[in-house]
Amino acid sequence: MKQYRNYIAGEFVESTRRFDDIDPADGSVIAQVHEADRAAVETAIAAGKAAVDGAWGKTPPAQRAAMLYRIADEIERRFADFLEAEMSDTGKPTSLASTVDIPRGAANFRIFADILKTAPLESFKTDLPDGAHAINYTVRKPLGVVGIISPWNLPLLLLTWKVAPALACGNAVVCKPSEETPGTATLLAEVMHAVGMPAGAFNLVHGFGPDSAGEFITTSPDIDAITFTGESRTGSAIMRAAAEHVKPISFELGGKNAAIVFADCDFDKTLDGMMRAIYLNSGQVCLCSERVFVERPIYERFVAALAERLKSVKLGWPTDAATTMGPMISAEHRDKVLGYYALALEEGASFIAGGGVPHFGNALDNGFWVEPTVVADLPDSARCIKEEIFGPICHVAPFDTEAEVIRRANDTRYGLAATIWTTNLNRAHRVSQSMKVGLAWVNSWFLRDLRTPFGGSGLSGIGREGGMHSMNFYSELTNVCIRIDQEPT
Ligand code: NAD
Repeated sequence: MKQYRNYIAGEFVESTRRFDDIDPADGSVIAQVHEADRAAVETAIAAGKAAVDGAWGKTPPAQRAAMLYRIADEIERRFADFLEAEMSDTGKPTSLASTVDIPRGAANFRIFADILKTAPLESFKTDLPDGAHAINYTVRKPLGVVGIISPWNLPLLLLTWKVAPALACGNAVVCKPSEETPGTATLLAEVMHAVGMPAGAFNLVHGFGPDSAGEFITTSPDIDAITFTGESRTGSAIMRAAAEHVKPISFELGGKNAAIVFADCDFDKTLDGMMRAIYLNSGQVCLCSERVFVERPIYERFVAALAERLKSVKLGWPTDAATTMGPMISAEHRDKVLGYYALALEEGASFIAGGGVPHFGNALDNGFWVEPTVVADLPDSARCIKEEIFGPICHVAPFDTEAEVIRRANDTRYGLAATIWTTNLNRAHRVSQSMKVGLAWVNSWFLRDLRTPFGGSGLSGIGREGGMHSMNFYSELTNVCIRIDQEPT
């Protein structure tokens, strides 16, 4: 049986407590994961501090950037291993993991290496009343040891999204991937080892949240900052833990995202785009659209076309190139999603497509599958419209005016993403700027330039990462102010 060990102070470390890593496509056990106890997490944090004070902290930015490039190269060299690990941990199809997850895992290191090399710093000249002046300039320093806690939906992509800028800024990291998806994180530790990352700069600890590695990281007084992606209620537990010692936090949390389809949209392109926006990764992307508003003149046609498109979605083995949709991540999450399908029925929804569990007649029947689903006719106040489901389901609703749809789209405690489909230029700007979200896409969705701010408001998170926003979060800035007296006369 494959063993996923912790990586602490430059060494792979076993533990006595182990848990199973399950392939959600067929429910089989694929690896044993070594759960880090409190002592192991403390050792990792101490190793991180030693690395920041030592070899890694003394590595000049140009060499840090070169190291990040080597990491990206090594991920690409081991592309097949990463792909296999990601597919078996998540069940996501090769068509997705090979084009999104693994390439972005490598790209995250290159972009932050490039940003590190070009990151500007502020400087001001300050005139003083006595005729003298002062020069102010900032210097960027690492925060120290950063705790990184990541989710299971895009395991390598979301972990490296934080590891890369944290290392670029000279920090050490202690990472805890989701207990559901420890595979690619363990491979990343192998990559760090292979490229000669100084011991302690990158540490990996496996485990769960409460009373396990996650909590041991977030409650440690020696962790200097916490960056977290996951559910909003986990964010609130981590915020409470971090409050004790007052430290920077960056949170990328849940969403209940709206899509707005105007009657003047390019119908076919919109349908293609909305299929991705609703169903990519089986709807298990924080950015996915669970609330779809369609302007009334094209409502019936759009809903019928969406239901028709769903017939071509192919659920199946992740390794099959023809598969377009995978399972839910776990039995527990499958039950949660099915619970929302049942709740939708109770709340009075009409099922336009899906709503059940597919049957394969092979080992896939032991996996955690649900049918891609479209529902309609729920009031905006329904729980299915208010709560994040995180599965392959959307609710479609007609609307009549721009003002009405803006109000309804913004009627949520989340504030992550919106996608707007229209060919009217003025409307595109007006509506996208009115969305109470961190990310508004027009005639596109999940189209990312990694230099731009990424994050959400309300229950969707705190802060922005991406480009210079990441550099600023992962750095401590010191402003140096120098008074320069006038030349004596
Ligand atoms: P989760 O919150 O259950 O778990 C995320 C991570 O937190 C895991 O590693 C878990 O072990 C750890 N954890 C759980 N409880 C903890 C605690 N008390 N202390 C410390 N660590 C703890 O989230 P998930 O189910 O893995 O991921 C799905 C969620 O993530 C969805 O809500 C989704 O919207 C959100 N998400 C957000 C973004 C974004 O960028 N905004 C991206 C991806 C996913």
